[in-house]
Parts: sequence; C-alpha cells; structure tokens
Amino acid sequence: MRLMLIEDDALIARELSLHWQTQGWVLDLCTTLKAAQSCVENHTETGGYELIVLDLGLPDGDGLEWLAQFRGRDRLTPVLVLSARGQVSDRVLGLQTGADDYLVKPFAVNELDARVAALRRRGQLTRGELLHFGRLSWLGGEGVAYSNGQTLELSPREFEVLGLLIGRAPRLLAKRNLMEALAEREFEASENAVETYISRLRRKLIGSGTAIRTMRGFGYMLVLHD
Ligand code: CA
Repeated sequence: MRLMLIEDDALIARELSLHWQTQGWVLDLCTTLKAAQSCVENHTETGGYELIVLDLGLPDGDGLEWLAQFRGRDRLTPVLVLSARGQVSDRVLGLQTGADDYLVKPFAVNELDARVAALRRRGQLTRGELLHFGRLSWLGGEGVAYSNGQTLELSPREFEVLGLLIGRAPRLLAKRNLMEALAEREFEASENAVETYISRLRRKLIGSGTAIRTMRGFGYMLVLHD
C-alpha cells in the first residue's frame, strides 16, 4: 500500500512513519501543501495513492483548500483528515469538502488503524471498476475518465466506448463486440453511431498519449501514441 501523509508536526509524522513502515507500507511524507501537490503530480501515472492522510493547519496554507482543489481532479482516492479542529462544524466542513473520514487530534493510533482499514475496504470495492491505460484512467463507478489527471468531458456513450477500449487495450476490440456491448447498455449501436462515437472520442483523446487505431473491417485498438 502506498500512502501520503501531509503533516507538519514532526512528532506525529515520525510516530506514524514508523508505525506504517512496520506494516510494510510505502509512505510519502509531505510537510507542506506545495510538496503534497508535487507528490500527487508525480504519482498520477502510477495510479496515485491508496490513501491520503491530511492535516489541516499547514505552514503554507489550509489543508481544506488543498482538499477542495484535489477533489476537483480526483474523486476516488480516500482522504482522511487528521486535525486538532474538533468542533462538529469543523468535522462537517471537512466531510463536505471531500474528506472520507475525519479524526480529531489527539488520537489513538489503533483508532486511526481501524478507520484506515475501513477506508481501504471501501476503496477496494470502488477500484474494481477502475481501469488504467497510459495516462488515462477510467472510473466505472464514478462515471468519470481522466487524461493526465484532467477530467475528460465525455457523453455517456463516449464514456462506455472508452471503457470498452481501455478494457481491451492495446488489443483489438472487435467492432461487433463493441456494438453488442453498447446495445446491451441500451445505447444506439448502429455502425454509423459507433463510427460517430469513435471519431468524437478520437478528438477528445488528443494530447492524452493514446490514440484509437482503426483496423478496417475488424474494429479498433487503443494504443500508446506520442
Ligand atoms: Ca499542523
């Protein structure tokens, strides 16, 4: 498990680092929001973090503002807020901003462990419908696809087609299978309709590092592309 801890309190950071290391987890420790941002950017291509633990009072800003921005790009990665701000209104605000859980300092490490375990169970359920290819991510459960961490603006049909292509990539997706899969989802699945979805998707994938190749008479392949 790879996780990120955003925490400027050296004692807490050290205690949690040691604790998680003994469990064999890979931890990226960030003491500022700026560092957290570059960690997130560096790990987008490798699928990101399984969990982010976020303090709120940080030297270069408020963790909640960072969280709001992060949630604009990533709705899936679980975020647990760890903060001394313990009023009901603080916790409500944290959860509304996009935290999946909120633990007030001072905290017991075994309570943190239990909450982390619960978040991981939930995360694994959602990740069942998570597909990656190159710099593309496709989140079935959320109905969102990302290219280089940016949301792709897709219609529901284009989203389905992209999911089918990524599911096969870089192998061939037979046109017939594509049409059958669309028909099962009650989308229009004529040859013309499929060609339209593909040509729209092709334009939207420009700059994604992937491209749709047509194998005339057979179907389509999603391939890596400079
Ligand atoms: Ca702090």
